[in-house]
Amino acid sequence: MTERIREFLKNRKDDGPCLVLDLDVVRDNYNAFAKCLPDTRVYYAVKANPQPEILALLTKLGSCFDVASISETEAVLAAGCTPDRISYGNTIKKEREIAAAYRLGVTMFAVDCEAEVDKVARAAPGSRVICRIHCDGTGAEWPLSRKFGCEPEFATDILEHAQKSGLIAHGISFHVGSQQHNVEAWDRALASTAAIFRACAERGINLAMVNLGGGFPAKYLRKTPKLESYGKAIFRSLRRHFGNRLPETIVEPGRGLVGNAGMIEAEVVLIAKRSPEDDTRWVYLDIGKFHGLAETIGESIRYPIRTRRDRDETGPCIVAGPTCDSVDVLYEKTLYPLPVSLAIGDKVLIEATGAYTSTYSSVGFNGYPPLKSYVLDTSVAAMAA
Ligand SMILES: *Cc1c(COP(=O)(O)O)cnc(C)c1O
Repeated sequence: MTERIREFLKNRKDDGPCLVLDLDVVRDNYNAFAKCLPDTRVYYAVKANPQPEILALLTKLGSCFDVASISETEAVLAAGCTPDRISYGNTIKKEREIAAAYRLGVTMFAVDCEAEVDKVARAAPGSRVICRIHCDGTGAEWPLSRKFGCEPEFATDILEHAQKSGLIAHGISFHVGSQQHNVEAWDRALASTAAIFRACAERGINLAMVNLGGGFPAKYLRKTPKLESYGKAIFRSLRRHFGNRLPETIVEPGRGLVGNAGMIEAEVVLIAKRSPEDDTRWVYLDIGKFHGLAETIGESIRYPIRTRRDRDETGPCIVAGPTCDSVDVLYEKTLYPLPVSLAIGDKVLIEATGAYTSTYSSVGFNGYPPLKSYVLDTSVAAMAA
């Protein structure tokens, strides 16, 4: 994690947990996507972290955006992006939201059933639609399950319905599950996608685009493959299933673009032993499931927690948040090793928390304010120096 985040935290005066984001890391990540997936455009999944400075930086770098709501659309436009660089990727939209996005200039929408096609046809006539197909999410730490996407066999009918409704049947999208560890996870979905391209061609519909979704990992405690390996595996699969007629491709990274760009500083509020002979300590932090660490649900995402005493011997801990709700426990099934010398009042750093934290923070549950975010860009670093 970056030196200047450490420097910033050293000089920070205010109280309470906070997230610090380093824009240079976002820039490096964006460039890595451009390098590892050279013919694929990046549509940043705004929900991972809609911080205006991130949207402005990515706009400047030439990124496109995947949005899920009108306010995300407005945030991207406010950052200086034009609506032709926006894909409305949520398959669950009110018709008046589609109409509002269309008025703002958005003309690409995801659908996964005929009823949603009908809404888009009425509210955004002539738009391009991408049909989302279902993926099983095996290999992902945060699978997106059965909530989205039709069965691949059904996609051709849905796209034909779109074409007959005056829309442009533009392509196929899928999401292999977030924090996907298997670089080959895209292969099956691409096999289905190629079959849909052929079936559509037989009906006179020429699909153009494959949206490869997100799933690219951030580095937490568990080791992850390099982005380059994902790029190579995806390219091999595209070749395998599409031959020499490669479709236009886009990716929608969220976690992979901003996850490692942020770090949360929190404080140890209490360390408790529940019985004299028990080795396990309960470590209560001033941040929990309700203040940004929602992805610890099911202990799915295991964040690196650093302390100033990491050279000392460690012992097993249950790590919990500060609220009076018993679900506010971060790690219990798999105990978390923390230094035995850890003390009440110590600061801890929770690393790789740039994605899916600040927006998951509750507004005021139990009187705790939402997670504060600070953004460091080159000019801020220069000021601090
Ligand atoms: C959340 C989301 C993404 C981003 O997924 P990551 O795994 O964070 O990269 C991409 N596309 C869609 C449609 C999403 O809902």
